[in-house]
Amino acid sequence: MRTQADADLAFSDRLLQLERSVAGDLTGPLDAALKAAAEAAATAWIAAFGSLRAQPTDPAKAKVIGEAFAAALSALPIDVTGPLITAAQEAFSITLDHAAVLLDGHGEDVPAVPSINHRPGAVAAVQAIRDRIDKSMRLAKTLDSVGGFTHMVADSRVITSVVKAQCTQGVFGTAATGMLMAAREAGVSKLWVAERDACLHCTAHAGLFVKPGQSFPAVTYSTSKPLEPVSAPPLHRWCRCHLTLWKPSWHEPGPTGVPSYPDTLRREAKRSVLQGRRLPSESETARLRAAKQLLETPGALDRAPKSVIRQAETAVRKGEFQPRPDPKRAAENRAARERRNQR
Ligand SMILES: [Zn+2]
Ligand SMILES: [Zn+2]
Repeated sequence: MRTQADADLAFSDRLLQLERSVAGDLTGPLDAALKAAAEAAATAWIAAFGSLRAQPTDPAKAKVIGEAFAAALSALPIDVTGPLITAAQEAFSITLDHAAVLLDGHGEDVPAVPSINHRPGAVAAVQAIRDRIDKSMRLAKTLDSVGGFTHMVADSRVITSVVKAQCTQGVFGTAATGMLMAAREAGVSKLWVAERDACLHCTAHAGLFVKPGQSFPAVTYSTSKPLEPVSAPPLHRWCRCHLTLWKPSWHEPGPTGVPSYPDTLRREAKRSVLQGRRLPSESETARLRAAKQLLETPGALDRAPKSVIRQAETAVRKGEFQPRPDPKRAAENRAARERRNQR
């Protein structure tokens, strides 16, 4: 049988694929409409004032261009309730299938999980998108300078990002709800699996498991702000962590005493903090502070490899992490060296 880690990874990959597919379907026509609106506004600006760098000579003409842009925004294709409901249904059923495989694989009964209505979530998502469009429209209606023109066009692109965030929420939020329901019906714990390259808040949740009715403790590796306890991911916008099912009796330590799945998740999370793995959006300083705090917490590093600890200590002392070796770059360097040696 596949390990639960492999099965969970395949599950989150399916969710990710679903998210990408629905986000692609929804943002394609939206991006095209935004591009057309921006081009029309640019053409009008050049016709009125000579160039895209020229300040408006007539404020009334600038206002007309801003109002035309706002009208184009109000007509954006965002009637996406249907596709969002379909995506949520799909995420829900992928989740229940995965829960059934896990329970069955561990010899547990697979309970029936009641279906839920995905419409309110989709309606709220479309409302959030509409609210963001309204904000861009208000900005467009104040257009009175060339700086304002650039700002107006850049701001309208945020609408696409809001649609994408709603797709992430729709897929991963629904999956978490489904798994929470499955855990409750089956009477097993919910276990937090952090996404790859998770942030310092999510990383600290990795491997934690609690009873379905309980909240996860408000833990974080970040030294900046305290969190609130939550009952399930997403922990924040764009969070792609997921829940899985767990029961301590499922752990089979074997003769060699292998660590349990939750323990392995926690260790991997700590190792990622010590190695300074981060997304481009996160600051290295925050990651260094987290590594320092982890190094200084008594008992936190149990069974972490010595080499990883040493590297983290060096990084904290120097104030920067060693860049992670890039396998592709390493192969290119090797090839270049060989070519030099042949000359
Ligand atoms: Zn996170
Ligand atoms: Zn997360």
